[in-house]
Amino acid sequence: MKTFHTVAGLREALAGERLAAKTIGFVPTMGNLHAGHIALVEQARQSCDVVVCSIFVNALQFGLNEDWDKYPRTFQADCEKLTAAGCDYLFNPTDNEMYPNGLDTQSRVICPTMTDVLCGASRPGHFEGVTTVVTKLFNIVQPDTAIFGVKDYQQLAVIRRMSEDLCMPIEIVGAPIHREPDGLAMSSRNSYITAQERANVTVLHDMLQQVAAALQSGERDFAALEERGRAAIRAAGFKPDYFSISNSKTLDAAAYDDRELTVLGAMFTSAARLIDNTSITLD
Ligand code: AMP
Repeated sequence: MKTFHTVAGLREALAGERLAAKTIGFVPTMGNLHAGHIALVEQARQSCDVVVCSIFVNALQFGLNEDWDKYPRTFQADCEKLTAAGCDYLFNPTDNEMYPNGLDTQSRVICPTMTDVLCGASRPGHFEGVTTVVTKLFNIVQPDTAIFGVKDYQQLAVIRRMSEDLCMPIEIVGAPIHREPDGLAMSSRNSYITAQERANVTVLHDMLQQVAAALQSGERDFAALEERGRAAIRAAGFKPDYFSISNSKTLDAAAYDDRELTVLGAMFTSAARLIDNTSITLD
């Protein structure tokens, strides 16, 4: 695997691949890689000639009181995992390489729909930071295919919408959620969960499954089902952020006759904010 820290270096290498008519698959990450990230790289490996991964902890998508400075950075271990997974190129820019003019005056990409609800409601500006950095990374890498985890359901929906709205010639692919054996969705932020909390954090996944099953069996009192999820999270000792039954495409609150539904939840442990979701199609 070849690692580049500059835009110019990566561009030069990828220009050669493009000249040789190779297809490029791209997996953007913030590092601290786990099996969920590596599955995205393996998926890219299977469908594209050349695999590019990026590791960049993007300050623009973190709020002022969030964990940008303490976000786990494990570069050497990440490189070993990417090499083993068959990644060809790693892009690992500095903050200055990505934002040479600083953050305040950086041009932004705004997706005006789906970004003010759910995670966007509790993390103002977050998705603007995501769409801006992903656009920059897309312009740098110019991939044929980009792979994102369904774990960040809203992020994937926003990126799909952005690339459609802005005519980006990139196939956006969603990859399934990788979980620990007890159902906890893998996340770099799981390292913030304390040993005491660990057994109980599965409440988020459990309640998403329970509510999805209730919807499948015909229950339609969405408000009551959402409150059931929040109450169970509180009873397990955590603070719910949101627990919502949404239209899978628009992320609007579900309507009575919607057939494609996604149940999304977020909760706070003592030091982490965890998210998860599950999607269902009603017959
Ligand atoms: P992050 O490093 O958290 O920005 O994540 C980078 C990519 O990995 C995003 O597309 C995430 O949705 C995806 N990802 C993170 N956790 C998981 C998981 N448990 N399963 C599948 N994909 C994931």
